[in-house]
Amino acid sequence: MAMWNPWRGCHKKSEGCKYCYIHKGDSRRGIDTNKIVKTKNFYAPIEKNKSGEYKIKPGKTVYLCFSTDFLLEDADKWRDECFDMIRERSDLHFLFLTKRIERFTDCIPKDWKDGYENVTVGCTVENQETADYRLSIFKDLPIKHKNIICQPLIEEIDLTGYLDGIELVVVGGESDKNARFLDYEWVLKIREACKESNTHFNFRQCGTHFIKDGKKYTLKVKDLCSQARKANIDF
Ligand code: SF4
Repeated sequence: MAMWNPWRGCHKKSEGCKYCYIHKGDSRRGIDTNKIVKTKNFYAPIEKNKSGEYKIKPGKTVYLCFSTDFLLEDADKWRDECFDMIRERSDLHFLFLTKRIERFTDCIPKDWKDGYENVTVGCTVENQETADYRLSIFKDLPIKHKNIICQPLIEEIDLTGYLDGIELVVVGGESDKNARFLDYEWVLKIREACKESNTHFNFRQCGTHFIKDGKKYTLKVKDLCSQARKANIDF
């Protein structure tokens, strides 16, 4: 796996951004997250070593814009160059998540057609309102590999009608001392919908504040993922 953040910074977009870890980290360091700037890693996928080989070895999954949003308006002027690199590196698989799926058709290159084989797009939703709005757009988009990311999940979501053609649904809670509760029943409900539609399911992390069988728990950040794994409900 490799990380690729061609730019840094992001703007809060919806309820799910309330405790964004990028904003929290930047504010501790006195950095303005709302200032969007290119990073020195902009050309990372096509950088080569002294022997002329790509530094990122073939076959890797590249996590693109995991500390920003690939469809951010501020980055419109840079995205075509990113697509050139994605096309050049057909030996890598690129994955980006977005809360701005409504911008997708304005952002893709001319030769996108029904999607690049080496790109997975994850549409992130946090509540029923964002699910209904974003997923009704997402379901009709020409994308070869689609995931739905329900993280942070802040209320019960019904995904009925949105799972056709989805490869994976990821569910996770919020991480913050003021985080909104994650109820395990909501997780199981989404899992059930995935089972019925034969869609892979991954419970990625618990929430700092977690409800199971009606009991409330407060978990440490370091335990959020391991506790979710212990549930052993992925398929
Ligand atoms: S879209 Fe993602 S990176 Fe941007 S503010 Fe929201 S949570 Fe943070």
